[in-house]
Amino acid sequence: MSTYLLKLGELTLKGENRKGFEHILKRNCLTMFQGSGAKLEMTNGRFLVHCPEAAEEQVEHGLAHLLGIAGWAKTRIEEKTPEAVLRACVTEAQELFAQGIRTFKIEARRTDKRFPLDSYGLRSEGGAAVLREVPGLQVDVHRPEAVIEVEIREKAYIYGTARKGLRGLPVGTAGRGLLLLSGGIDSPVAGYMMASRGMGLDAVYFHAYPYTSDQARQKVRDLAAQVGRYSLGIRLYTLSLTPVQQQIQACAPEPWRTVLLRMAMMEGAEKLARYRGDKCLITGESLSQVASQTIENISCTESLVRLPVLRPLIGMDKDQIIRLAERIGTYQTSILPYEDCCVLFSPPHPILRGDPAEARQRYEQLELGTLIEEALQERVMETCGFYRP
Ligand code: ATP
Ligand code: MG
Repeated sequence: MSTYLLKLGELTLKGENRKGFEHILKRNCLTMFQGSGAKLEMTNGRFLVHCPEAAEEQVEHGLAHLLGIAGWAKTRIEEKTPEAVLRACVTEAQELFAQGIRTFKIEARRTDKRFPLDSYGLRSEGGAAVLREVPGLQVDVHRPEAVIEVEIREKAYIYGTARKGLRGLPVGTAGRGLLLLSGGIDSPVAGYMMASRGMGLDAVYFHAYPYTSDQARQKVRDLAAQVGRYSLGIRLYTLSLTPVQQQIQACAPEPWRTVLLRMAMMEGAEKLARYRGDKCLITGESLSQVASQTIENISCTESLVRLPVLRPLIGMDKDQIIRLAERIGTYQTSILPYEDCCVLFSPPHPILRGDPAEARQRYEQLELGTLIEEALQERVMETCGFYRP
């Protein structure tokens, strides 16, 4: 059996709500570790995951994608005697040394006050034992390459260098939102950001077959699966906007097409969100990044919807978004070449500062209601990114 210790971070600030948050975090862990044989134990503000050695890979993969934890570490569990604890510090130090670590320090916490060494004693005696037994390792209290942590609780836990968790809040603590997911770089990142504030995700992708390809659709599925690793799965709804797009193309002046299409997407998305009980829409818009994202055009596209529209990337620049996309693992998929419907449809000189009242009027003239209704009727739903061992 192996044991991992989870540090909860921001959760510890939640006072009254804490119990509920912990409960959801526990449920999320169980989903992540499904089928691995892992068991969860909760003891005074610590989560422990016990799993068979063969399941370590799955558990570590899960922990690396688990929102709502500040850190985690594979820990040794020892008897509560100074000898056993000091011996474990030395073994841990030997392993770190073998991995190339040369400087360390010991951090200690003692919640069981009956243990004969206090935290100062644990640090100094642990440090001395390591220095004696592992020549070549040195103490550096300011910038150590590794920290050996000792926690004396109902048992003694000893672990080297904890890994950083993703932080944020456990998915499911903030309801669920509907992500407008295109095949681009931005919207998957937007979904991740809301998931990291505790929001569960549905996603909607508008395609325009045959103008958009099956590869474009597959790319969106892959992105949904990648974001879904963090959000504990995504239901991806695919809607065809081909007839809507044709209607816009036939009846609206060219410069207005992009804005009108985006308005149709918002209308379709809001209807779907209400049907699903999603509390908001989420887009990957970033202010002035492209013509359709000037504040005026955002006002146009938003003017139809009553649900809140969350745009977590609104103040970020492209470099920051790309860095985050790389970190969460969506970037390489996003830059595959297959175009989504917006790009194919872009007029050469789109309107830059649409007037919302005019946009509404033009939109209403198109009478897209039935076409959007039909697109919703024919929606296709797929589940992406649920953890399967
Ligand atoms: P992204 O990188 O997310 O594709 P973008 O920079 O290409 O964004 P736009 O094309 O203006 O910008 O789209 C803005 C937002 O509208 C997207 O982030 C996404 O949330 C939504 N969106 C655009 N196209 C689609 C689509 N085909 N299906 C679903 N949502 C879309
Ligand atoms: Mg795009």
